[in-house]
Amino acid sequence: MKILIVASALVLLITSCTKPIPGCMDHNSFNYNPEASEDDGSCIDMSGCLGWLPNATQSGQVISSFGNTQYDAKFEEEVSLQGDFFSDIPTDVGILMEPSLDKKNAFASPDGYILFGYYLFHETLKNFGELPLAGILAHEWGHRTQQELGWQNYNQPAHRELEADAFSSFYLFLAK
Ligand SMILES: [Zn+2]
Repeated sequence: MKILIVASALVLLITSCTKPIPGCMDHNSFNYNPEASEDDGSCIDMSGCLGWLPNATQSGQVISSFGNTQYDAKFEEEVSLQGDFFSDIPTDVGILMEPSLDKKNAFASPDGYILFGYYLFHETLKNFGELPLAGILAHEWGHRTQQELGWQNYNQPAHRELEADAFSSFYLFLAK
């Protein structure tokens, strides 16, 4: 009995002294933190395209090529076309090596970047061809437009996505 009391006291002492580590505890999230012991509601859904964080280990690395000079040239040409089309929305476009194939994505960030995922590029090209690549890029430029104009009062996240799709369709209709 005495041992049990001492043991319980020890457990209490240890648990009360251990500071919880706040962070995202959802394995499927973009910014999952394996060391977190207390979910702080910061999880970012990988399916969203506004989630790239330069400091998050799950975000992937910015790279300079899709691994094929022909693809790089075509992509650059498309970036240039869209840069002219969305000329009021200053944006630098880069390539991101996602952490893994199942995290393929493209992102628009409020600090002025669009990052197009390496895996997303190759999978889209392989399965759907070139046009959807332009569509995805224009969708991200739609998000850049929302960010630049300060549009943020959406009732649901899906409305923000639908609007970005509308920007994309507008571009594809006029430019393609
Ligand atoms: Zn989106």
